[in-house]
Amino acid sequence: MEISQPLAELDWIPRPRLLALRRLGVETVEDLLNHFPRRHEDRHQFPEFPRDESDTPICLCGEVTKTRILRFGGWKKIFEATLQEPNAHALSQPLTLRWFNLHYVQKMIATGQQLVVFGKPRMRGKRLCMEHPEFEVIEDDPAEAKIHFRRITPIYPATEGLPQRALRSIVYRILQDLDSEPIETLLPVELRRGDRSEAIRAIHFPKDWESLSAAREHLVLSEFFAMQMLIASRRVDSSIRVGTAHCGHGDLLEKFLGALPFELTQAQKNVIAEIRRDLAAKHPMNRLLQGDVGSGKTVVAIAAILLAVEAGFQAAFMAPTQILAEQHYAVLRRWLEPLGVRLSIRTAARQEESFLPLVEGEENPDVIIGTHALLYETVSFSNLGLVVIDEQHKFGVAQRARLTSREPAPDVLVMTATPIPRTLTMTVYGDLDVSVIDEMPRGRGKIVTAAREVSKLPEVLSFLRTQLESGRQVYVVYPLIEESDKLHVKAAAAEYELWRERLHPFHCELLHGRIAAPEKQEIMERFRRGETKVLISTTVIEVGVDVANATVMLVENAERFGLAQLHQLRGRIGRGEHKSYCILVASEQSKETAAKLAVLEKTSNGFEVAEADWDLRGPGDLLGTAQSGLPALRIGNLKTDAQLMQRARKVAMSIFADDPRLESPENQRFRSLIVEQQGRTFSNVS
Ligand code: ADP
Ligand code: MG
Repeated sequence: MEISQPLAELDWIPRPRLLALRRLGVETVEDLLNHFPRRHEDRHQFPEFPRDESDTPICLCGEVTKTRILRFGGWKKIFEATLQEPNAHALSQPLTLRWFNLHYVQKMIATGQQLVVFGKPRMRGKRLCMEHPEFEVIEDDPAEAKIHFRRITPIYPATEGLPQRALRSIVYRILQDLDSEPIETLLPVELRRGDRSEAIRAIHFPKDWESLSAAREHLVLSEFFAMQMLIASRRVDSSIRVGTAHCGHGDLLEKFLGALPFELTQAQKNVIAEIRRDLAAKHPMNRLLQGDVGSGKTVVAIAAILLAVEAGFQAAFMAPTQILAEQHYAVLRRWLEPLGVRLSIRTAARQEESFLPLVEGEENPDVIIGTHALLYETVSFSNLGLVVIDEQHKFGVAQRARLTSREPAPDVLVMTATPIPRTLTMTVYGDLDVSVIDEMPRGRGKIVTAAREVSKLPEVLSFLRTQLESGRQVYVVYPLIEESDKLHVKAAAAEYELWRERLHPFHCELLHGRIAAPEKQEIMERFRRGETKVLISTTVIEVGVDVANATVMLVENAERFGLAQLHQLRGRIGRGEHKSYCILVASEQSKETAAKLAVLEKTSNGFEVAEADWDLRGPGDLLGTAQSGLPALRIGNLKTDAQLMQRARKVAMSIFADDPRLESPENQRFRSLIVEQQGRTFSNVS
């Protein structure tokens, strides 16, 4: 047997099992070996049955002494099985296992069977219960038993038509048949601990916990190394592209900075210096600028734009929403037109059925500001030298590439206000150089954040009134995230009427994604000028909007938003000298909501919010894997294995630093690794 052999050629695997494996993407022996267990159970000896509930799941073994089916509410069913501890002593209590509406379970469990169960014991009345435990029926075949019991037993990701025992037996047999076959590793010596054959064996059927953890480390490093090789190769690909220097002398920049009513923060100055070096260099810039909401990224973008324009090149400035593009256009016009810079804006205004491109401004502009509309073929740049992408996390990798992969290569600056933990930066943005603005401008008013129940709305309203009476402005955000149908437009209008009554006589306006572009802009303008006091809005104002006199952000149904999104929304206030207030009104009181909102009450630091977000949700959601352009992880954990990622990255980077085209004999073997990773990325995105 060979590692690349299709499983279908092995005549002993039943066809239904093959089909189930195929659904998991497992076609060859190698795929199967790389289908790692999700966890392991120590089945040498089972603990005594517990007397109390616990939050950590436990693994128990016992005999089924009774089963019954309870019906309620017509068609709903509960299946219950009573599990008795073997050699039970007098004090031992049986455990009740419970499944709701799962027909297949009752077909699998019968009185007299031995079961292994895994779950959290909970007190239900006076009985100790496990609800929906994982379970496995023990059978009396001694040859089989040695695969599944009296050992550290692998538990695989479940799939229909492939019970744990069946899958485990297949893996076991394959490992035996593969006995003398070495499994090649592509891990450089610096990262290696033991060999791959051993690691693969031990990840499935470990001798003990130490060998399991050594095996895991080997495999995680392999996975991370492969990923970092892909990232490093992309980084090299973009930096060896032919580029041009796009940097003027800095006279325009100096004039601009001189006219600003404030002094740049040290962090802004440092970042501008970094960008300036990149622009002056011949190879293309690929830089990520991270800075919390309100840290002043736009000024940095303008600085970069002025340097490129002064050198005779065009700059493109792309924003994720039309409102934000309009805002940038207004800000840039104000500062750059006096310097003789020609600007134009292109947005695709969303109408009922059609996309109407809107173009405004100069004929042959130095700077083109826009939304996704900039990606359309109809926008032709005559001499593009710099691309700035604002709020990069709102765009996909593919969209970014569309604007930046043209020839000759422009310099690229992507900006994001979503601070992400370091391991993620090394991965998601691993092909970019990273600059961070880690300092807020001075003289910002404090932001107080408070979570409130709906029942407290009267107090909240009277607080809003005092703010409005002292001249401040207010945002009210409501959670109609999906704005695509007419029903929602109606709901938004109803919401608006309600708020108008509540805050009478202060002037309110309604803003949402379905309003036609020119009108949207007028609404924003009236709010900016202070004519409108209260802006009732969907999340269209989530990113970038900058109105210093607005000091209250009230978010309705705050439980429906993610932490990162709430932090972004909060970033709309606290932009002027006044103290600001973010009020999160939750209409639901779950533990999760309380924990989420407490994070925002406690900190206004975006990195801390991101870390907490990671703790609460896990990295999957944070990443948006489909957008990240990276293959999904099989075994590594971006959070807990951060150090391994760092080690893998260092080695991958140094390989490319010494040999950018992987030409040396010992590096050539890595080429196939990168191709394979690339392949997995594409299947991931589709
Ligand atoms: P973000 O990083 O969230 O995009 P902006 O660029 O919109 O932030 O900046 C927020 C506000 O802070 C703007 O009104 C901007 O003019 C102002 N600002 C930027 N830099 C400074 C600074 N160094 N001192 C004071 N205010 C600043
Ligand atoms: Mg911004």
